[in-house]
Amino acid sequence: LDEQEAFDIEYWLLEEAKLQRMPKPKSLAGRVAFITGGAGGIGKASAVRMLHEGACVVLADIDREALDTAVVELSAVYGPDVVRGTHCDVTSEAAVADAMAATSLAFGGLDILVSNAGIASSAALDETSLELWNRNISILATGYFLVSREGFKLMKAQHTGGAMVFVASKNGLVASPNASAYCTAKAAELQLARGVALEGAPLGIRCNVVNPDAVLRGSKIWTGKWREERAAAYQMEEDDLEGHYRERSLLKRDVLPEDIAEAVYFLASDLSAKSTGNIINVDAGHAPSFTR
Ligand code: NAD
Repeated sequence: LDEQEAFDIEYWLLEEAKLQRMPKPKSLAGRVAFITGGAGGIGKASAVRMLHEGACVVLADIDREALDTAVVELSAVYGPDVVRGTHCDVTSEAAVADAMAATSLAFGGLDILVSNAGIASSAALDETSLELWNRNISILATGYFLVSREGFKLMKAQHTGGAMVFVASKNGLVASPNASAYCTAKAAELQLARGVALEGAPLGIRCNVVNPDAVLRGSKIWTGKWREERAAAYQMEEDDLEGHYRERSLLKRDVLPEDIAEAVYFLASDLSAKSTGNIINVDAGHAPSFTR
């Protein structure tokens, strides 16, 4: 290096050190996010990710106890002024409308909507009762419809656009044994997202999807019957499930709620300003999606 080059490098190193010391603006500062199923699992991890970026967050969930716990925990970390909880069953038209109105009242609007509340259920096709079928359609397909419709109305009235993110599932794209009702309802969510994207685009409302594959840790779904039912569907021991999902993925890695939350944040933020009607699969490379 000659003297001038050495001087320049020193200059840029100092400049870089200065930039690193400067406070970084929070990318979601001033935004209001509404998250269904926010009391646990992927919803709660998404709330944390967005609170970290400066958003005000409303957690909507049917589980009062988990909701209260989540609000206490997140308020302790991010402050009581930026976290709210609202008890809401996403299958109830009135409850969803009330929860959305409460959000607007509490924080003055709605910028981000994460439709995520869900269940998982398993049954062979010839053992799938109409009740089980309807439960899947009602919570997953209808629930996502009601939540996105009410959010759409609010965003439209505000004239400020907005970002919706649906947490759907790889099972909306690929079939899974003994899960026809769940897979069908998840496929409906994907098509609904495209409809919202189409009608929302002229209004600046974007809608995208994150498709997790199995998120075994940190999810209530996996502490319930689903784990046992999945093991039976794949004809294996429950303790072998983690290994099964890891092995069938191209990257041979477990997918965690925080991994899904990162994609949710990306699609909720201006980082994805030019993306709508799209799907991000967060599945460590789900092998059945590839011909090998
Ligand atoms: P989770 O059980 O930890 O969280 C789901 C939350 O939704 C719970 O807090 C639950 O109380 C709430 N909920 C359920 N029914 C509701 C209703 N009617 N109204 C309001 N809230 C309701 O599970 P998770 O893994 O965080 O699941 C989140 C989403 O991700 C779901 O839509 C699920 O289908 C999807 N998903 C999960 C996995 C996985 O392996 N965990 C894989 C693919 C897709």
